[in-house]
Amino acid sequence: MNSQTIKLYDENAYGTEFTAKVLHCEKADSRENLYAVTLDRTLFFPEEGGQTPDRGVLILLNEDDLEKLKGEADNLFINDARKIEVLDVQIKNDSICHYLEEELPEGSTIYGKIDWEHRFSNMQQHSGEHVFSGIVNSRFGYDNVGFHLSDSVVTMDYSGQLTEEELKNIEKSVNRAIYENREIRAWYPAENELSEINYRSKKELSGAVRIVEVDGYDVCACCAPHVKRTGEIGILKVINSQNYKGGTRVSILCGFRALEYFYNEHAMIQKLAGEMSTGIENVPAQFKKQQEEMSELKRKLSESCEKLLLKEAESLPENSQNACLFTDGDIDPNVIRRVVNSLVEKRGGYCGIFFGSDKDGYRFIIGSGAGLNSNAVLAELRKNYEVRGGGKPAMVQGSIEGASAQDISSVF
Ligand SMILES: [Zn+2]
Repeated sequence: MNSQTIKLYDENAYGTEFTAKVLHCEKADSRENLYAVTLDRTLFFPEEGGQTPDRGVLILLNEDDLEKLKGEADNLFINDARKIEVLDVQIKNDSICHYLEEELPEGSTIYGKIDWEHRFSNMQQHSGEHVFSGIVNSRFGYDNVGFHLSDSVVTMDYSGQLTEEELKNIEKSVNRAIYENREIRAWYPAENELSEINYRSKKELSGAVRIVEVDGYDVCACCAPHVKRTGEIGILKVINSQNYKGGTRVSILCGFRALEYFYNEHAMIQKLAGEMSTGIENVPAQFKKQQEEMSELKRKLSESCEKLLLKEAESLPENSQNACLFTDGDIDPNVIRRVVNSLVEKRGGYCGIFFGSDKDGYRFIIGSGAGLNSNAVLAELRKNYEVRGGGKPAMVQGSIEGASAQDISSVF
């Protein structure tokens, strides 16, 4: 049962349909309610070397189908109800395992079809990665020590640090290689040929080594399907980079994924420009201007709040050393602190400002005059309400829930 599955994608990365014999089918031990199916040959690329597996369907063929197949009938498999989705593809004991929700009889013949859009996208990303890594390697000597091709983004980890400027230059070179439309060739060299080839590899390889060569840019051991010529990569865009374990982690997008990325970014910046009533080239300057205006407004608002609070403080009854004020709204804590200080200076007792509402609770700053401890007010409030916070004797801050302005006033 451990006979190796023939990898049809090795020879032809562009094949989408195939027939095969079911060699083995069993309940998958690791996946509940799924069957693990091994075929004598397959077009489904399994999860391998950091790349996600192919998607697609299998169809169990009956006598009729097989008869028609001999006559090369078109539209043989139009019935969607017969399609069995391939939910995952993994390598197990040297064989390629297809995970399905249905059981398939051993010895039967199936027809398989892979999701070409998904596959071609993976081919664009993976070939783009090879060109990128090849240039990094030849120009800087760094190795690609980590590779992950997910269904959204491609990340590579390089063994050395690359600056923004260097990444930009590499990106340009990759795109030049794309426009040069170089040939990409994948093959299994004989042992004596292999020993003559200088190729990149992530690990020590055993067994037959598959070489993928991008003419003039890269030679690398790789098991995945690639595009035939670099032109098919379309475009490569670096979308992120960061220092990672002493090297650099780079995220890229190629082909249609890159195009999708440009669509989204362009739509976003167009929307921003529209809302700012300006051209997209003016968005950064306009944004900066609005930020400056906003901080100026905030400063003015704080000033007005401070004046207002001081005015209210003046109108409080003068017969008490203690005082508390209430305000809604989000006021700069520095303003609150200044007003509390001025209240304490005038009255000498416990003075607090509460900002918020009866419904949502209040945040507060409470100060006290010489010889007093503001924590005493907190202790008093804690007897009946849920209070968080604390501080030094001269000033405490925190929040209170479940108390109305009237409740709090009565404590003062
Ligand atoms: Zn590869």
